[in-house]
Amino acid sequence: MQDYYKVIPMTENIYHIFEPGDVGSSLIIGKDKAMLIDTGFGFANIRPVVESLTDLPLTVVNTHGHTDHTGANCFFDRVWMNPMDQESYEDYQIHQKPLIAARFEGIRKAAGKKNVWPDDFDRMAWYEADTKEFCWLSDGQMFDLGGGHQIETIFIPGHTVGSTMFFDWKSHILFPGDNLDYSLWMHFDMSASLTTYKKELGQLDKYPIEGILPAHKKRLLSTWLLKRMPEALEHLSLEKSRRFFHPRTGQPGFLYKEPLNGESPDGIDTIYITYQSDKM
Ligand SMILES: [Zn+2]
Repeated sequence: MQDYYKVIPMTENIYHIFEPGDVGSSLIIGKDKAMLIDTGFGFANIRPVVESLTDLPLTVVNTHGHTDHTGANCFFDRVWMNPMDQESYEDYQIHQKPLIAARFEGIRKAAGKKNVWPDDFDRMAWYEADTKEFCWLSDGQMFDLGGGHQIETIFIPGHTVGSTMFFDWKSHILFPGDNLDYSLWMHFDMSASLTTYKKELGQLDKYPIEGILPAHKKRLLSTWLLKRMPEALEHLSLEKSRRFFHPRTGQPGFLYKEPLNGESPDGIDTIYITYQSDKM
């Protein structure tokens, strides 16, 4: 399957490598080094795609421990992650991988795809695949890609307690992983409380952010959501929410929908927030 990955250029030196299952990994190419933010599901090997775009030394980082962001970690010698997300990573490795594969297969078949899996996919090998070596990130850590091009690590507990955003001081793009998007999933056992998340989001005020590239979007979002998400969290209440069940695990929670009435410059109508009632 030649076209399994779709390489979407975002700026001159930034690519979003999007894959079936609707998740992207972001490649930032600096003067002397490159950085890959997340690795995707790992049903196929993302490494040759990265190496077709750059031959510079590569630093690989994860925004959090979920398998759709860490699945291809196994193709790299070492990967940086927030140690607070080890538990999410292990939980997904041990318990979630069979469910993830089954759901991916179901969606691809329902969509009438002849090739559900990449040609060389081996399900048992995929279950076993693991990160060779983790290096632990610290909050505020700077990665220099050369010529003063810095990428800063920002710990913001939310979607998971170890969720980490990366800010590119050259392009002024924020890479939030799953931790800032129009759909914000906060109902996991290892999600932070809504109150903690809202407070921690305030950290972003000091960055000159000009665009946001969430992992599950194919395009750059405006910064409007930075201001609007805390307001949506303010409006959220149990009365205005409905019961929600995770489509893969059936785990119950609540879903709040904030209508945007055409306000969003990104052309998106609703903010969706899932959460647990004991972590508001
Ligand atoms: Zn996630």
